[in-house]
Amino acid sequence: MTKQFDVLIIGGGPIGIACALEAKKNNLSHIIIEKGCIANSLYNYPLNMQFFSSSEKLEIDQIPFISKEAKPKRNEALEYYRRIVTSNDLNINLFEKVEKVQKNNEFFEVTTTKDTYSASHVIIATGFYDIPNKMNVLGENLPKVSHYYKDPHFFAKQKVAVVGASNSSVDAALECYRKGADVTMIVRGADIGTRVKYWVRPDIMNRIAEGSIKATFHSTIKEIKPHELIINTPEGEKIIENDFVLALTGYKPNFSFLQKLGVQLSNDEKLYPQYNDETMETNIPNLYLAGVICGGMDTHLWFIENSRIHAKIIVKNILAKNKIEANH
Ligand code: FAD
Repeated sequence: MTKQFDVLIIGGGPIGIACALEAKKNNLSHIIIEKGCIANSLYNYPLNMQFFSSSEKLEIDQIPFISKEAKPKRNEALEYYRRIVTSNDLNINLFEKVEKVQKNNEFFEVTTTKDTYSASHVIIATGFYDIPNKMNVLGENLPKVSHYYKDPHFFAKQKVAVVGASNSSVDAALECYRKGADVTMIVRGADIGTRVKYWVRPDIMNRIAEGSIKATFHSTIKEIKPHELIINTPEGEKIIENDFVLALTGYKPNFSFLQKLGVQLSNDEKLYPQYNDETMETNIPNLYLAGVICGGMDTHLWFIENSRIHAKIIVKNILAKNKIEANH
């Protein structure tokens, strides 16, 4: 098979898949290069995770997403996006990581862990789930500390500290508590996050109020020791017994990957990547951004619901450029 494509998409998440489908529908040759499995980020979400979006808001190209409840679960989303790839015979290479993208005249040369490809257009849809925001405290590298949460059973009868107060932290705290863990939430701010799913928020507030889940606000971890945590609280330093730490402090896009490609980032702490929002094209001609990567450090700005349109915007722009070229 030829290794030259009209469109090469880096990342096989929901938005990368949407881009491939749109390219295929418009007779552009395409390939997705994905470093893990299909929808790798979703695969790595907590096993019982439920989306905050209802299923129709996660649909690609109006292909019906049927779920048991209005808000689908992780495994239903995996089923949906996998079926889009297989039923539409999208061209996707899995377990292959893009390491380098170099522009030679009008073509991009894309080097992966397995091969080299040439493409006239490249779409970066690499999301933000691979790099956790570190707390940068002593002991963070201990094996009992994790920045990802999968399943509560493991934590039964253990003293678990959950850092953060967002959806991920709240879901983990509630699940672990319900499987018999002794949970303490360590929250930097004054309250549970305002973006926590509206049907989950009362549950966590009531568990904290009744004391079944402990929570310390305006607090941060100072040091993680093998069997203890030292916490900075408004009342001063506190030491608590601890078996495991779930540091669910968010994630960030791979900025150095973007910079190596030459994509400009904003000069402030948000590091917004530069692109034209009418075309999704970056400062490098024919290099596009799609999906949640567009938000820089503001990872809540973009989600599947509002970024699935990127696929159509990008392909429309590519087709318009091709038409102009053909007329010359
Ligand atoms: P991703 O799905 O992250 O896909 C990026 C892909 O790129 C990954 O598969 C990754 O393996 C791959 N990749 C990265 N680097 C490379 C490389 N160098 N080479 C090859 N492949 C690479 N959004 C909603 O709309 N509704 C929700 O209810 C919702 N709930 C969420 C719950 C959680 C816990 C999280 C973390 C996010 C949620 N989001 C939700 C946000 C959104 O679902 C995800 O961020 C979504 O996965 C974004 O899709 P994406 O295709 O942009 O990125």
